[in-house]
Amino acid sequence: RQPIIAIDGPAGAGKSTVTRRVAKALNLVYLDTGAMYRAIAWLVSKSGVSLEDQGAIAELVTHAKLDFSPPTEGAPLRISINGEDVSEAIRTPEVTALVSQISAQPAVRAKLVSYQQDLGKKGGLVAEGRDIGTNVFPDAELKIFLTASVQERAKRRWLDFQDQGDGMTLEQLEQDIQQRDYRDSHRSLAPLRQAVDAIEINTDGLTIEEVTDKIIYFYQK
Ligand code: C5P
Repeated sequence: RQPIIAIDGPAGAGKSTVTRRVAKALNLVYLDTGAMYRAIAWLVSKSGVSLEDQGAIAELVTHAKLDFSPPTEGAPLRISINGEDVSEAIRTPEVTALVSQISAQPAVRAKLVSYQQDLGKKGGLVAEGRDIGTNVFPDAELKIFLTASVQERAKRRWLDFQDQGDGMTLEQLEQDIQQRDYRDSHRSLAPLRQAVDAIEINTDGLTIEEVTDKIIYFYQK
């Protein structure tokens, strides 16, 4: 198979932007696994099923049909679930607040991990998430763990939201990020963790270009 780059790290460390750039520069397919967990969270919230009802969530997930098309030149990533395009709907604060509780459920992880591994069978991709290097593609050629301080990550999210006219304060974003990180790293299944063979890049004070260049450098080394 072709090479795989795994990019993991906590919320707001800059994974999406950087992964997209790396994919473009190296002509690899970009796999946004967070978007898949978000799509399931969207479905659960729309269906009105209780978060505690793991059986009902498992049932929903097992029958869900996901269609993921990576971004191409000039076109953003599209994701649909059961035929409905949710590419924008998965980015709302409501879905963001819910997703880490959904992604901790065994049936959800089982379904999405095998879906991702299927998409990655031939390689030639750069995948971002929380468990790519540890669990989804443990034999990836390059593993990167992106980090940044909570303050820096909240500030970046805040700047993103400014463009969308969302009213979240910096303090709220900081709390949200900390809560999501806590859940993501304390769940029993494939918790957020740096793979032993991953290279850590702390992005505090680095530009997107600098981080992208570092990853490309490690890839070509
Ligand atoms: O990266 P993004 O913020 O879109 O991820 C949303 C959520 O999806 C994460 O907070 C995490 O709960 C879950 N996730 C995961 N495993 C992945 C990718 C995302 O559990 N590989």
